[in-house]
Amino acid sequence: MSIIVALSGGKASAYCGDYALKSFPKEDIILYFNDTKWEHPDLYRFLKDLQVYWDKEITYDSDGRSPEDLFYDHHALANNRMPFCSRDLKAVRLQNFYKDGDTIIFGIGSDEPQRANRILNVYEEVSKKEKKQVKIQFPLITQNINSEAIDNWLSSTGIEEPLLYRLGFKHNNCSGGCVRAGKKHWKLLYEKLPEVYLERERVEREVREYLGKDVHFFKDETLEDFRHRIQNNELSSYYDNDSYKDVECIGVCSTTN
Ligand code: SF4
Repeated sequence: MSIIVALSGGKASAYCGDYALKSFPKEDIILYFNDTKWEHPDLYRFLKDLQVYWDKEITYDSDGRSPEDLFYDHHALANNRMPFCSRDLKAVRLQNFYKDGDTIIFGIGSDEPQRANRILNVYEEVSKKEKKQVKIQFPLITQNINSEAIDNWLSSTGIEEPLLYRLGFKHNNCSGGCVRAGKKHWKLLYEKLPEVYLERERVEREVREYLGKDVHFFKDETLEDFRHRIQNNELSSYYDNDSYKDVECIGVCSTTN
């Protein structure tokens, strides 16, 4: 029976990896990461640094497809209303990966009890359907670990914080170019990592052309139109401050396999 730590590439789940290594026999632990193929090179640097620090290999799980590949397979663009990339590339893969009796550790914080509950409900359903039991642990909640403690731990390791945090992003998913993110997030992406923004714009444009449909990641406009509004200073005062809420993609959508 294994202890699987669901690493997201972010700091909170890295802290959980460290917690697991201090709490359970090293040989029982699987440090598990879903590679979406859209990740920033610095995320791989971060995981590599953690591997060296822990002296423990990380398991990279992927079927080789990126969100872009899925858009063609599904004949649709994923978005916040339809996050099938999170489901197919992360949630379903972890649900298939774990074995009867395993424990999975998630880096959900105490400020996100609704997400913890959602995970418990999803895995209860999966357990019944697949007839394989699983224990779920949320050490950040049970040990009352806040973001300051996580930052202090990371500083103590000497490992550099992932680039996306240093640029002002809240998470380290898909190079910041997440199709579920809101417009304030995409504005920040355009300002900080324009090459990622333009790359997502290319994907959106090509899928639109392929499908011959007026689809977009946002509800009401394309990335290209939004970029023009940024460039022409046409955004409303809503964008004057950069406070926004963003949810980390750890494959916890409501869908089960
Ligand atoms: S981070 Fe966003 S784009 Fe990447 S897999 Fe998750 S939901 Fe999809």
